[in-house]
Amino acid sequence: MTVRIIRKFDDEVLRSKAKEVKKIDESIKKLITDMVDTMYEAEGVGLAAPQIGILKKVAVIDVGDGIMHLINPVIIEEEGEEINVEGCLSFPGVFGEVKRAAKVIVEAQDLTGEKQIIKGSGLLARALQHEIDHLNGIVFIDKAIRFIDS
Ligand code: ZN
Repeated sequence: MTVRIIRKFDDEVLRSKAKEVKKIDESIKKLITDMVDTMYEAEGVGLAAPQIGILKKVAVIDVGDGIMHLINPVIIEEEGEEINVEGCLSFPGVFGEVKRAAKVIVEAQDLTGEKQIIKGSGLLARALQHEIDHLNGIVFIDKAIRFIDS
């Protein structure tokens, strides 16, 4: 088990765009394994590679229905809107209300390179949008309409 250091607050890597993964090789598989370990250790529901300092389009999510490995994820459809409270492992102690699409459809590759279609609503839709934002150098505090005192 390898838990990596989570980059926080003003770390500029959090504001940088991740690059597309061209080949799913052993280094990508190891990266994903480490990200899963790191996310569970920190008790998060999602983690994007830039949060551990790696600018690759990789994210992992587990909102309680099992682990999802997302390589090169893109939102291909979104519907509705919903405001809810969000936090982030890179901003411990910070919570804010963020307006997101209520439902999204995401296309991503899995560990085998196969394209998968993920339909999400509720917490999963929110996590997908939050993690994909990370891959584009966007963090939730940029989008928060109101911060909540914790
Ligand atoms: Zn985050």
